[in-house]
Amino acid sequence: MEELFRSLIRLNTAVQRDTEQLTEVTYLLTQTLASTDKSTVDIASVYARNLDVLLFTLESARELVIVKNVVTILHHMLCVKPRIGGAVSKVSLRSASRCLLKVLVYLVNELEPIKIELLSTMYVIITKLSVVDKKLPVKARLQGALPVTVKVMLLPSVNVKLLLPLVKVLRIFAASSVNVAELGRSGAVVALVQLIQGMGRKHPTLQQISLEVLMMLLKSKKNLRRAVAAGIPKALLDFFLDWQGQDSRSKHIKEQNCLLTMLKQFSVNKPGRRALVEAGVVPRLYAACQRMSAARAELMPTASVVLRKCLPCNRLPLHGTETSIYTFSLPVIEHDPDCCCYATGEDVDEESSKQSQGLLAQPDLTVDVAQTCRLSCDMLDSSSTEEFFPELHDFPSVTLVTDISGLCGQVKGASLNGSSGAHSESAFVANAAEATAGCDATGAATAGSCGSNNVQDGKEDQGSSAEPGSTEGWCRELPAPSADYCDEALRSYHSAYLACASRTASVGRWNTVPYPDLCPVWTAPIQYEHLSQNTDDVKRRKLLEDISRTVHPASVMDKLVYSLDDVAEHTASARRSNSLTNTDEFQTDGEYPPSADHLLFNSQFESGNLRMAIQVRPYEYDLVLGSDINSNRHLQWFYFSVSQMEAAAPYRFNIVNCEKSNSQFNFGMQPVLFSVREAALSRVGWVRAGTDICYYKNHFTHMPTSGSGCQTKLHYTATFTLTFPHPGDVCYVAYHYPYTYSLLQTHLQQWEAVASRADVYFRRQVLCRTLAGNDTHVVTITESSQEICPADSRKYVMLSGRVHPGESNASWMMKGTIDYLLSPQAAPIRQMYIFKIVPMLNPDGVINGNHRCSLTGEDLNRKWSNPCPVLHPTVYHTKQLARFMVASGKPPLVFCDYHGHSRKKNVFLFGCSGRDSWRDEDAINCADDKSYLSLPVLLHQRAPSFNLGDCSFSIEDNKETTARVVMWREMGISRSYTMESTYCGCDQGLYQGYHVGVRELEEMGAKLCEVLEQLPHALGTNDHLLSKTLNILDSEDTLSEEDGASGDELSSVGSDVTERTADMDRQEASTSTQ
Ligand SMILES: [Zn+2]
Repeated sequence: MEELFRSLIRLNTAVQRDTEQLTEVTYLLTQTLASTDKSTVDIASVYARNLDVLLFTLESARELVIVKNVVTILHHMLCVKPRIGGAVSKVSLRSASRCLLKVLVYLVNELEPIKIELLSTMYVIITKLSVVDKKLPVKARLQGALPVTVKVMLLPSVNVKLLLPLVKVLRIFAASSVNVAELGRSGAVVALVQLIQGMGRKHPTLQQISLEVLMMLLKSKKNLRRAVAAGIPKALLDFFLDWQGQDSRSKHIKEQNCLLTMLKQFSVNKPGRRALVEAGVVPRLYAACQRMSAARAELMPTASVVLRKCLPCNRLPLHGTETSIYTFSLPVIEHDPDCCCYATGEDVDEESSKQSQGLLAQPDLTVDVAQTCRLSCDMLDSSSTEEFFPELHDFPSVTLVTDISGLCGQVKGASLNGSSGAHSESAFVANAAEATAGCDATGAATAGSCGSNNVQDGKEDQGSSAEPGSTEGWCRELPAPSADYCDEALRSYHSAYLACASRTASVGRWNTVPYPDLCPVWTAPIQYEHLSQNTDDVKRRKLLEDISRTVHPASVMDKLVYSLDDVAEHTASARRSNSLTNTDEFQTDGEYPPSADHLLFNSQFESGNLRMAIQVRPYEYDLVLGSDINSNRHLQWFYFSVSQMEAAAPYRFNIVNCEKSNSQFNFGMQPVLFSVREAALSRVGWVRAGTDICYYKNHFTHMPTSGSGCQTKLHYTATFTLTFPHPGDVCYVAYHYPYTYSLLQTHLQQWEAVASRADVYFRRQVLCRTLAGNDTHVVTITESSQEICPADSRKYVMLSGRVHPGESNASWMMKGTIDYLLSPQAAPIRQMYIFKIVPMLNPDGVINGNHRCSLTGEDLNRKWSNPCPVLHPTVYHTKQLARFMVASGKPPLVFCDYHGHSRKKNVFLFGCSGRDSWRDEDAINCADDKSYLSLPVLLHQRAPSFNLGDCSFSIEDNKETTARVVMWREMGISRSYTMESTYCGCDQGLYQGYHVGVRELEEMGAKLCEVLEQLPHALGTNDHLLSKTLNILDSEDTLSEEDGASGDELSSVGSDVTERTADMDRQEASTSTQ
């Protein structure tokens, strides 16, 4: 055999080419190899060593027979007896691929007729070589093998034996995008479609691979255009529908998926979409989808994208305006708006004014004027801040050591009058006392809490909501509702609430107060409420219902039944709800006969948000939400009432202008419902309700204003179906349990009344007024008796909440916190701490039904590093409180800002760990400080809805201006947190699989304080606990639902629009929390 190879070398190098000899030798070599036993290693190595000789022979051969012989040898070596191939060096194999491609081109172009079998063998070898030769696609292009392959595919004599290896090779070639373009130029797209159509369903493997190759080729826009010109969209649609009709056993889902994916590729391209529409894709594919069995459900998402893309884009029915219906005129600012130095006089104390002038006067200092202004505005105004520390006066022993260096003025000596228990004399309180006259009977009434509230006597409220269910003894069955909220108490509650509501200043015009606010106690559902079970089928059905609107336009009513723009115009321009009351109960008792053949909507009340309702079918309504005031976005919070419903009719509601790319509505969350009739009859209040709930991208576009450069933006639909408990009822529907500003004001009065009868030191004061003129309160709570623990030794805890108005869960947690702090069992906590609480940081946003912003259209939780006293007064003054404590040598031991999180389950904390900061210097400065971990660890042990694994302690640069990071960085508060509560429910712990309700939120707020009793003991966090904690944090799967299947799953293939939208969504997601 060695001899044969030697002669081969000789023949190749001979001056005179001896074709006969060459034929003879190569033939003998094929024979030897064919008869060789697999295990003959020697022979294998001889062949392997001589591969180069064989390749040389092949490359120089011009005679078919020699080519055939060598190809047979190579096939044997590389494909039949892979052990031989395994002995060949990779270098030789790579040269083999180049050589084969070259010969392939030669054969096809020069030698007629084409030998089908020979080519087929060559393609098999090339496929084999592609495993080791990653450059093979490039070589194929350089050797000219791409057009040649397409040419072969189009030969009339071609058969399946050749086609199968050929399309496999094409699949390899098409891995390079340059090749995709060249293959398109060579006519591969049309050739493949002909091939696919020609073979029918006889050869599934060939069919499948051909479809895959075609799919790869259609990734190029030029190829798409070529395909459109050749009528391929229609051909593929026909082909898909044919498969659909024939494939009764659902055996060929893969092929159908491939075809649908290609239809999707066409649908995201303008000419492709046009071709599909002309081919009747909408009615035809819609009909196919309706017939689709469950076995083919996996085809639905792609099919619906095709349909959605091919539907005409509808503009949102907003009549030309997409900004908020109401605008609020902001105070005129004379200076650069980025600079906060206004001529407000009182806000900038003398000391600092002088200082800034002084700095400016120094000629040799380069001073950033704006920076100086900012400094002067955001420094401590100690004289006016001191008044919010009434404990300084009321507890003679409390003396704050004022160490206010540099920027701050002197704290006036604490006035040591010892009138413990004296109430603050602010004008508001005087008014409130008036309004509360007769309200005392409500005592410890805690609106919205569950079951057994004893409302008659503050002393007896142990065991009520003030003591939330502890982990031990917790049961699924709740105690029966107490019915002893007597009429008289209810009347005084109403008068107190209405008095508070009358002082609430809104931008919008209202016509009622929301009925749920008038129910101080409601019975929580007897059973804990399960998360709803969503199936893919819901989304499929809802999408089809939506698509059928286009297919059967005659069935769509499109009747505008509610327009806030219209009704607001006819509402008396009442900025305050002076004389407002509520007549819902009268409407439910039959006195108001139905006046319309559709539901009546209303959102003209505090925290209401609904801009428009359009009846699309008799029992289906599209709802359009209003954006935040002075903004054109932040569409998520909704709160409206409906009336005149029929009995037992399922009404479908579609909120069609949602913005976020996903929602907990896809993961078990239900909206909340409040039936006035139910509440009047049996005190059932807010419940989770709704079926067929899902969230998906729709075909409503938000057209950019001309010249704005924005991309067309698609919206998302949140859909749910409600069957109301009573006909002719008035029902309120909301994103989450509402908690209005007026309700807070009422609660503040009630808390004051409770505290006055207990050993609780409770002061509420107006910290500042908002832009709309609403009072923002700060509450001080501690123990009035100093017998056990002198007030002077108590540490401060600072809490705030509801900076984001749509996060009503934050307010319910805050209510739980304050209820607990006033309860007898919190005495030890009160003896240890003085609580400074700003329960609502964004009253204006809450009042006007905003989701995220204040009236400036800004996110107030991005304003903490440099709050403007005029535009962001609540943030500015709250920061002053912290600054005062720090400057006085008593920095808060804990700062916590309460929030809601719309994408996750459970309750969790965001804290600050220098080690996990985006700034390197933070890591160096606070490397070993683990004190931030103790509170979350205690909560993990004690609060059932809390999950340590969801916590995060990193500091990102886009969070630098949040309360949490500013309190940590500027004030040095090491335990500075954001507490995030789900809107949905829990996926771990005691409440796993259940929604959170008001009860669980209040419990969480209470637990946060309860664990503070152990905090001092946990401060030196023991090593064992620490390592356990870090383990939990590390082991937590970082993939949350937001990374998983999304409402956007229907649009994964990129048109420019979708990709850009997705980008925006991602940006949104990254800034959406806190
Ligand atoms: Zn928030």
